Amino acid sequence: MLPETRHAPAATRTALDFGADTYNVDAMRETLPRPVFEKLVATIQRGERLDSKIADEVAHGMKEWAVARGATHFTHWFQPLNGQSAEKHDAFLTLSGDGEPLVRFSGGQLIQAEPDASSFPSGGMRSTFEARGYTAWDPTSPAFLMRHERGATLCIPTVFLSWKGETLDQKTPLLRSVEEVSRSACRVLKLLRKPAARVHPTMGTEQEYFLVDRRFWDARPDLVVAGRTVLGAPPPKGQQMEDHYFGAVPERVLAFMEDVEHAAWALGIPVKTRHNEVAPHQYEIAPIFEDVNRAADHNMLLMEIMRRVAARRGFACLLHEKPFSGVNGSGKHNNWSLATDDGRNLLDPGSDPHENASFLLFASAVIRAVHRRGNLLRAGVASAGNDHRLGANEAPPAIVSVFLGEALTDIFDACAAGKAADVTQKTIVELGMSRLPQIAKDNTDRNRTSPFAFTGNKFEFRAVGSSQAIQVPNVFVNCAVAEALDEVADRLEKRLKAKQDPTAAALAVAGEVYRESKAVVFNGDGYTQEWVKEAGRRGLPNLRDTPAALGVYADAEARKLLTSRGIFLEHELDARYLIQLEIFVRSVEIEASVLLRMVDTGVLPAVLKQQEAAARSLTAAKAAGAKVPAQEKAFAEYAAGVDELLARKAALEAALVKIKKAHPEAPAHARWVCDELRPAMNAVRAASDALEARTEGALWPFPTYHQMLFQ
Ligand code: ADP
Ligand code: MG
Repeated sequence: MLPETRHAPAATRTALDFGADTYNVDAMRETLPRPVFEKLVATIQRGERLDSKIADEVAHGMKEWAVARGATHFTHWFQPLNGQSAEKHDAFLTLSGDGEPLVRFSGGQLIQAEPDASSFPSGGMRSTFEARGYTAWDPTSPAFLMRHERGATLCIPTVFLSWKGETLDQKTPLLRSVEEVSRSACRVLKLLRKPAARVHPTMGTEQEYFLVDRRFWDARPDLVVAGRTVLGAPPPKGQQMEDHYFGAVPERVLAFMEDVEHAAWALGIPVKTRHNEVAPHQYEIAPIFEDVNRAADHNMLLMEIMRRVAARRGFACLLHEKPFSGVNGSGKHNNWSLATDDGRNLLDPGSDPHENASFLLFASAVIRAVHRRGNLLRAGVASAGNDHRLGANEAPPAIVSVFLGEALTDIFDACAAGKAADVTQKTIVELGMSRLPQIAKDNTDRNRTSPFAFTGNKFEFRAVGSSQAIQVPNVFVNCAVAEALDEVADRLEKRLKAKQDPTAAALAVAGEVYRESKAVVFNGDGYTQEWVKEAGRRGLPNLRDTPAALGVYADAEARKLLTSRGIFLEHELDARYLIQLEIFVRSVEIEASVLLRMVDTGVLPAVLKQQEAAARSLTAAKAAGAKVPAQEKAFAEYAAGVDELLARKAALEAALVKIKKAHPEAPAHARWVCDELRPAMNAVRAASDALEARTEGALWPFPTYHQMLFQ
């Protein structure tokens, strides 16, 4: 499907088996009658509606292709609001009137299905009597085969809607937001006299993850149910030496990576880069960028592949944002740009002044978008897991700012000072615009602390969580940028009407927009306390946790943006707010229960054994007439620690009972989770970790940080 692979030499293609398990253009050409093939390709490339008359033929061709490769089942593959992907498999098998088995797949089955979806979260949008939802084929993302031990399932990417047309998934709003940003960007391009038929966001996701030995994972109930460790003393050696980053990849891990890559290539996922990350046992995999809809599907699939391959290779793949406290967390850098259908990257500084002006204009719109809609972008990355990362020492802070780097900041400052009014060769040099092409190669943009950084020819949104589906953050980025581009277009229109030269007008608007949004630009160290204060002075929001960030769903301004652009209906926003809050509350309450269970069934029995042995040893020593004040002191301290653990555990239990009786509304419940539940959990953890550091290794019931991170 990717143009480059179609033209790649056959040998290379076979070597990587790229896209072999996707129903791509080659497969379509081979299995469909010529007119059907052409219509389908037009649908995909021009985003047109599929002609339902050809659906039967497409379904037949797709089935022939899939069955020839071992498929026995098909499924509509969709992304409900729980942040996962969902599938329900049906065999191609049907019985004829006289009971003969037939392998069939109809156009109707391809285009639409009705999964029994009453258990997916809908935030109250569907009462049970009308719980039905339906899935509808998204032909712009290729169908693919998921292989299993005895065959394969044909997976058809779909959107998921209620019968009333409400969106129940993550893909629909993404597709809508893509249309919005395309429309607004085309408007600007037309005014610049460089029209394009369509513009789409491009997306490359750098995915970070941890691998731990499966034996350890199996023995850690917290990792199994919550994806992160809720207790565990820091190891004697952590990541202080920073000796893991870009180091040699261990043999066993490399085998995992190769399996993942081959599976990904077969599915047409263009994974390219692999390396060690900063923390021990932390790694990264990054694909070549694609159109955002496909990139979002591919990232979901990739996460699934990684989990499966890990299990097969004796690992557990941890995608959680913060599996281990005290070592780096994991993110998913979203490299975002805009491209025209003929392949122009609108955020690539060009090689002549006119292209430069266009670049500056688009970049100014992105800056504007982040400034105006920072709270929306923050809400897009809010999750229980990401709370541990954003604002912690190694991740971008919860304050959303833009990094431009020195060179680009200088140029924008010059534009903003009005030096761009007259575009002569001289002003170009004065503005430093002749330096623009160099910006792409400028390595000063390695500021890792910025949540939204310009990196040469794209912006990198780094606050996205590693386990997160990227649809929602990208819906918000696309919408915010669409809004800013429309504003830019309005201003440009006025200037062009006043007969200003388009390049000069573009530079003037870029300067204006930048000047008004400059408060969001920050090139310094985002991890410092000074920045937190400075950001406060600049009026940038600092939404520290998930409930605070999700508050944007109730914010009139943000709602107006999303509803006026047709992305969501009012009550869909209410529903999404509720679902997100519930997911948040549930995940932390699950962590609290697994913590209590581990303390009760593992930690307490172990420390009581140790205490008993110490008591016996102390009594024996004293009976033998020894003076052992240090031992007595150590014993008393240890026993006090055990008592402390019990007291804190009781406090946590009481808090959980109290909240259950109180039945607070979702926002208040979520607030309580941050303000009371988490501190109570941290207190239990601290008591347990202190004991762990002083308890005989053989008695400790759970794999330790040292084992999980260094063995
Ligand atoms: P790093 O950030 O590690 O230095 P790169 O900047 O080379 O790495 O690329 C990171 C990711 O950005 C890759 O997935 C790459 O495909 C993606 N990327 C590069 N150009 C674009 C673009 N125009 N739009 C979206 N993503 C892009
Ligand atoms: Mg990067």
